[in-house]
Amino acid sequence: MTEITQLTIHETLDGLKNKKFSTVEVIKEYIKEMEVKRSLNAYVLETPETALSQAKESDNRYFQGKERRLEGIPLGIKDLFCTKGIRSTACSHILDGFIPQYESSVTANLFSSGGICLGKLNMDEFAMGGSNETSYYGPVVNPWQQNRNLVAGGSSGGSAAAVAANICAAATGTDTGGSIRQPSSFCGVTGIKPTYGRCSRYGIMAFASSLDQAGPIAKDVRDCALLLNVMAGYDAKDSTSANLPVPDFTKVLGQSVKGLKIGIPAQYRPDGLNEEISAYWDKGIEILRSAGAEIVDISLPHTQYALATYYIIAPAEASSNLARYDGVRYGLRVDGDHLDNMYINTRTEGFGKEVKRRIMIGTYVLSAGYYDAYYLKAQKVRRLIRDDFIKAFKQCDVILTPTSPTAAFPIGDKHMNENPINMWLNDIFTVSVNLAGLPALSLPIGLSADGLPLGLQLIGKSFDEETVFRAAAVIEKEAKFERLK
Ligand code: GLN
Repeated sequence: MTEITQLTIHETLDGLKNKKFSTVEVIKEYIKEMEVKRSLNAYVLETPETALSQAKESDNRYFQGKERRLEGIPLGIKDLFCTKGIRSTACSHILDGFIPQYESSVTANLFSSGGICLGKLNMDEFAMGGSNETSYYGPVVNPWQQNRNLVAGGSSGGSAAAVAANICAAATGTDTGGSIRQPSSFCGVTGIKPTYGRCSRYGIMAFASSLDQAGPIAKDVRDCALLLNVMAGYDAKDSTSANLPVPDFTKVLGQSVKGLKIGIPAQYRPDGLNEEISAYWDKGIEILRSAGAEIVDISLPHTQYALATYYIIAPAEASSNLARYDGVRYGLRVDGDHLDNMYINTRTEGFGKEVKRRIMIGTYVLSAGYYDAYYLKAQKVRRLIRDDFIKAFKQCDVILTPTSPTAAFPIGDKHMNENPINMWLNDIFTVSVNLAGLPALSLPIGLSADGLPLGLQLIGKSFDEETVFRAAAVIEKEAKFERLK
């Protein structure tokens, strides 16, 4: 028999509705599993008591026939989301012991739809990183081939690992330059970064405000659609939130892709692209072609500038956003003999190396004399990158690419850690999407020769998550990827 913790959200909802098991039973199974798998370091805080008391309410609701859309579904929450009354630190030392007085809009939507919080998930400090190694709480271990001690990806490494290891039914993630898609790819799970503005950023600790977007990481495409249905929507508390209706994303699942135009960007197949990844990309193309889609070659000529542009804009915004952590009202405070020294001591001790690196770069590119050369230029190139996509979408409906140029690499990998540029290069296929504000989903396509998951990315038009989901469901069905038991 399949264990309860191995079920998808839709299977769990079926089981709960048909009284195969109760919510309390489901939650107890997950709590047990979380204990067994603590060595993954996926959770930085477990909240079993809250989960159990929420489960009792869910069971009552099922009993009364008043269940909500996600009634009784156990979720892990990335530590970047403020959760009312539950410690939220962005996995940074500077937010030591911070307990928010308010709930982020996305988690509020999930919980008011019956979702249950199992705890807070590990991540790169302030979502800066691609391997979860910048977390104050240490790296997450990828649940695939645990003996090899591989990274789970980042920054939502805890989220992807927890979903893969069946220690939550699904998780929230955020994606500024790939942080939902790359860890999903590394851990063999499915995640979608929605269009910028689709989900409210209220109550999510800001990294780079013009790029940050929340989204779900789940076991399959349908679960992602179910979650996004609930997470998305207009929110007056976020001025960049889009006042657009949220369609039922599950409606398009199973619909044919006949006649759909799939764009294949030449620039995503650079010389030296890993052969297996290239072969799996071809497999994805073949699946869609056989299903009746039309394959179109497209060009995104400014792709080569995307990483440089991202690593100017993201640090610039981060340096400004992170100025608020000063030790005065919340989080860590390291005293000093006068006020300035208190700030300096707090920030010196509170921020990790990667965060400091980004604050330095961001401050530099925004400073007088350099602002025009770096920040303004990057904004102009950002527009060109977005224009590339707008042009490409005149020829195609959705774009297919690999998610990441590599599979999961070892924790502490020298090549990745000694020069930050190498780590940043891992974001090559994901950052353009954030610069352009588009929706993109990663789903597992197969295993590398040495048994590690690899993912494909589908990029959609602005606010057209539906076509992304539609194509993803077709690939998923044919790929028959086997999740971890
Ligand atoms: N890896 C990228 C970075 O380090 C993306 C992170 C993210 O999407 N939060 O900035």
